[in-house]
Amino acid sequence: MQATKNITPQTQYFLEKEERYGAHNYHPLPVVLKKGRGVFVWDVDDKRYFDFLAGYSAINQGHCHPRIIETFIEQAQKLTLTSRAFYNNVMGEYEEYITRLFGYDKVLPMNTGVEAVETALKLARRWGYDVKGIQDGKAKIIACENNFHGRTISVISFSSDEGSRRSFGPFTPGFEVIPYNDITALQIALADPDVAGFLVEPIQGEAGVIVPAEGYIAKAAQLCKEAGVLFIADEIQTGLARTGRMLACDYESVKPDILILGKALSGGTMPVSAVLADDEVMNTLRPGDHGSTYGGNPLACKVAMTALQVLTDEKMTENAMLQGEYFRKQLIALNHDLISVVRGKGLFNAIVIDHPEKETAWEICLEMKENGLIAKPTHNDRIRFAPPLVITREQVDECIKIISKSLEKI
Ligand code: PLP
Repeated sequence: MQATKNITPQTQYFLEKEERYGAHNYHPLPVVLKKGRGVFVWDVDDKRYFDFLAGYSAINQGHCHPRIIETFIEQAQKLTLTSRAFYNNVMGEYEEYITRLFGYDKVLPMNTGVEAVETALKLARRWGYDVKGIQDGKAKIIACENNFHGRTISVISFSSDEGSRRSFGPFTPGFEVIPYNDITALQIALADPDVAGFLVEPIQGEAGVIVPAEGYIAKAAQLCKEAGVLFIADEIQTGLARTGRMLACDYESVKPDILILGKALSGGTMPVSAVLADDEVMNTLRPGDHGSTYGGNPLACKVAMTALQVLTDEKMTENAMLQGEYFRKQLIALNHDLISVVRGKGLFNAIVIDHPEKETAWEICLEMKENGLIAKPTHNDRIRFAPPLVITREQVDECIKIISKSLEKI
């Protein structure tokens, strides 16, 4: 079991249950949560924390947003699942709503993020054969080093993280991995006429909030267009107001050929993901080609509409931009020896810890937990700071004090 500090018997009880009966495929911070509201969560001992992970950005709208929960309960009492064997009276309205909002001809509703990524890959391959005319079985998708797009066999086939791949082969062929934020590498890769798509995160989240050079996304999209290759943006983590724009691609006025959304599409209530594209791409699918029992269920569709509406009504993009900029400024002003880098956009931020000990970022997270703020390290030396987008300036000030006090303890 992990090294922990100040663990109460109540917390210990739940840690032991998971240790004993659950697969050990995560390494959570030793905090057991039982309640959430807005930017706050409470543990089983009633201690309150600022949530600086926000469900890996699934909780952009804040925990248990009252309007989302109200929609959830209302629809749950009417109809939750029809499967796609029948029509339901919500899905069409949702499809109209989301396609208009993002400016696409069509949407394909799925559940988890990785399913939406898989869907996008299948669409790109199908388009590559049926529209671009690539010889059957030859289509290639380009992805980037240090990507994170999920955990299925095909998606880890182009992961560069050894931990994600070890002993899971053989892998799916048809992917080429190039360095992120490298236009020349992309240019070279695009010269291959068998390339159907380029899959990219506009900011690499799991890698530690890696922000590419200004202009990278726009240039990449332009090169894809010139090469007749689909530009596929995975905005599962960066999308839906997180970075201070509705989509991170909006910063460079790029409309991806395929847009992948997930996480905050349900405000953290259930797995809801979506793939958006225009007819030229989406109409390559025919009945039976792809699907999911839960994809497009009326509960998910209703919840997604409210989750999106809440982002706009409550000006969460604007708040993410405002508080994010302020937060980064305050972090930089700490001028702390342990922080070598502060980076991010909107409320999607990370610090890099400058310390020879591998465990330091973890220790800082434990210390922040003691002081009432929970966040999670990634790649040993990076800590992501991504609170719900409802955070206020006063709360940011309070959080900066917690972070500062915690760093002092290390
Ligand atoms: N793509 C990106 C950019 C992500 O950050 C994630 C999850 O963190 C995924 C895909 C996978 O989403 P899910 O865990 O819902 O399958």
